[in-house]
Amino acid sequence: QTVVNKIAAGEIIVAPVHALKELLENAVDAGSTSIEVVVKDGGLKMLQITDNGSGINKDDMGILCERFTTSKLKTFEDLASIGTYGFRGEALASISHIAHLSVTTRTKESDCAWRAVYSDGKLIPPKPGGSAEPKAVAGRQGTQITVEDLFYNVPSRRRAFRNTNEEYSKVLDMVGKYAIHCDGVAFSCKKHGESSMGVAIQSAAKTIDRVRQIYGNAVANELIPFDIEDQKLGFKANGLITNANYSIKKTTMLLFINHRCVESTAIRKSLESVYSAFLPKGGHPYIYVTIEIEPHRVDVNVHPTKREVNFLHEDEIIEKISDAVQEKLAAVDT
Ligand code: ADP
Ligand code: MG
Repeated sequence: QTVVNKIAAGEIIVAPVHALKELLENAVDAGSTSIEVVVKDGGLKMLQITDNGSGINKDDMGILCERFTTSKLKTFEDLASIGTYGFRGEALASISHIAHLSVTTRTKESDCAWRAVYSDGKLIPPKPGGSAEPKAVAGRQGTQITVEDLFYNVPSRRRAFRNTNEEYSKVLDMVGKYAIHCDGVAFSCKKHGESSMGVAIQSAAKTIDRVRQIYGNAVANELIPFDIEDQKLGFKANGLITNANYSIKKTTMLLFINHRCVESTAIRKSLESVYSAFLPKGGHPYIYVTIEIEPHRVDVNVHPTKREVNFLHEDEIIEKISDAVQEKLAAVDT
């Protein structure tokens, strides 16, 4: 059983950034307005996420890392959000099978924080011979999740990471994307033991200024907004796209569907082809698109990591978005 779980987990989490993405999403789901990330050795030695969100009930801590049995299933309200976010309930479970995982959390109602350590889906004693039960500790409202020694028990995978700087930049990139998308939330990301920040976004920063801070002035100064809605197809889309005066060697695309950062080759290809009529040969755009689709129309289970999504009426929706982008590009004098 343990081996099977370990293999399954290793398919969901292939690199530190995949664990990080899940932890970021959980922190956002918890209604946090501040999310801090600390990274050691590209996330292989340690990934630590501290949020100021709802916290986790002490009573839920025992089952936190069991697959599909998390607290989300307990209330009707949560059942509705399952559709929105693509319920799987297995991120923490997966992480606990391939890393050392500890959680310190405090809800508004609790008069202290609780700390627990997990392995293979279950609570374990922090020290051999001790109690596995959550321990009362001092702490503020919110949750701190520490993932250490990722792939410690999958040496072949662990060895595949020669360059931890590359993993760190993937982590920074992902934090940056969520920082751009999550209005009203402060984000920071840095290497452990260093004071200089890789990402530092204040909660009050506007979307355009978030882009400016993360991708620079050159991009931010050339952005045009777009915003469309189609009731028949049941979707809304908006975003920021570079105009025809701006071009880069490789397309930078941030795509969020129902507030999840995802990939869609179909959308990327379609928008690249729209831009190809406006940009010099070899030039590419910066595109930030956020789409909201009625949850039941989105299939997030195409791939366990949700890196590629499919959705109902995909072709028509992509066409609408491409038309909107085309119109914007054509309307701006170059
Ligand atoms: P899922 O997010 O799909 O439910 P996860 O394994 O990612 O599955 O998380 C399990 C559950 O743990 C979540 O549903 C949530 O109730 C709780 N949880 C995880 N991280 C946090 C957090 N940072 N703050 C509050 N609750 C959390
Ligand atoms: Mg989750």
